[in-house]
Amino acid sequence: FIEARNLWQEYGDLVVLERLNIKVDEGEFCTLVGASGCGKSTFLRMLLGQERPSRGELLLNGQALPNEPDPSRGVVFQRYSVFPHLSVLDNVALGLELPRSPVLGRLFGAAKREARERAAEILTKVGLGHALNKYPSALSGGMQQRLAIAQAVVMQPRMLLLDEPFGALDPGIRKDMHALLLELWQETRLTVFMVTHDLSEGFSLGTRLLVFDKVRHDPQAPNAYGARITYDIPLNEARRAQA
Ligand code: ATP
Ligand code: MG
Repeated sequence: FIEARNLWQEYGDLVVLERLNIKVDEGEFCTLVGASGCGKSTFLRMLLGQERPSRGELLLNGQALPNEPDPSRGVVFQRYSVFPHLSVLDNVALGLELPRSPVLGRLFGAAKREARERAAEILTKVGLGHALNKYPSALSGGMQQRLAIAQAVVMQPRMLLLDEPFGALDPGIRKDMHALLLELWQETRLTVFMVTHDLSEGFSLGTRLLVFDKVRHDPQAPNAYGARITYDIPLNEARRAQA
């Protein structure tokens, strides 16, 4: 489904990722861990199509990954992925309306009603059925992340990219979010890439744990290293069988 072949990412003379090789099947749940600055978010941005690799190939079903974000890739960041000036419902309905109205035009009548119905359905599924007309600022952190997840999955993406989505949440709330995410994953068969700093989260949620680590070549040259996936650990056989 996704394949990185000898992938490099460099910014000027800073090597961030080097010789990254990986194959991921459709429906896998990959959790990404590793020290700060070793390129996990960079890898997600490449999967999202926000950045092109400096060298090597990133393939989706054998074809070069489109290098623009599109609705086949949903994304959730740690914070700030929702629009503060839109209601909860509009935040989710907007994504459904935009692809059909690229020139600022908005939908009216039946199509708009349909988008809002679908948005309300997803919001109910993620536990925000009671908050459709609220503004994001009125929601707790956990609720805002539920909203961000709804926003990402309403487009029915084939891939969900999560960059420390629960890093800012209390442990108790994080548990609820884990349950929600697993439920969505099991239902939709999405391929998930999730960055986390919480190793136990990485172990308990994924079907596969990808450990990123820097490989230093020359101790004299501060930029002479790049990160690779140094461990690729299969997890949770029962869940993997579902993937
Ligand atoms: P963290 O766990 O702290 O989020 P990370 O593994 O996600 O770290 P990245 O954000 O991918 O790490 O950054 C990897 C390295 O690349 C860092 O040294 C960062 O400063 C650098 N970097 C990222 N984007 C750019 C850019 N556009 N231009 C220059 N350097 C960049
Ligand atoms: Mg990061």
